[in-house]
Amino acid sequence: MSTLYLATNNDHKVRELSAMFAREELPIEVKSAAAIGGMPEVEETESTFVGNATLKVMALADRLSEGEYALADDSGIEVIALDGAPGIYSARFAGEDASDTANLEKLIALISGVPKENRGAQFACSLVLVDHQGNRTQFSDICRGHLIPESVGENGFGYDPAFIPEGYDSTFGELDWTVKSRISHRAKALQQLVSWMRENLPD
Ligand code: IMP
Repeated sequence: MSTLYLATNNDHKVRELSAMFAREELPIEVKSAAAIGGMPEVEETESTFVGNATLKVMALADRLSEGEYALADDSGIEVIALDGAPGIYSARFAGEDASDTANLEKLIALISGVPKENRGAQFACSLVLVDHQGNRTQFSDICRGHLIPESVGENGFGYDPAFIPEGYDSTFGELDWTVKSRISHRAKALQQLVSWMRENLPD
């Protein structure tokens, strides 16, 4: 049995990732970074999601033993009317250490005068996996949709209450998490990772 350490302090992400792995019945146990000494503070200085995920995962890489992996994700929302912003700055859109609520309110204020046809947006996620020898593999995916200029629903986190995924009439804040766990940017990137693991993990 292999072990996968998640390079995040975000409890929502740990829960989402663990639930998805549990469904897949892979021979791998998912643990948070707390089980391997805690997630160090990492400055996200790169200009891409993959670059920043790599910085985070490499912060755990030299703590791994044989049969152990670390996984980091970096994600955010890209809004067409804002030329792709907030993108990699999604977590700090309203300032360093901004709350999810403050970030969401800033985004809603910026798009409130924008007509629906120009409120297209996508969530993007990159995952970077590293093994104990420092070998890295990356997986990226997106979830397209549009924004509404208000916060609707209590589910999910971050920008979920203002994002309606393509093919739906409700926000990720309203939709059951089982929907999000199939169609989200993170879910789809994870599906790629799961396929990779089915081929590459020892039994
Ligand atoms: P990260 O933790 O550096 O990847 O930052 C992610 C940022 O994008 C945070 O502000 C999140 O709120 C936002 N974000 C990423 N994925 C999602 C999602 O699935 N739903 C809502 N917001 C998200």
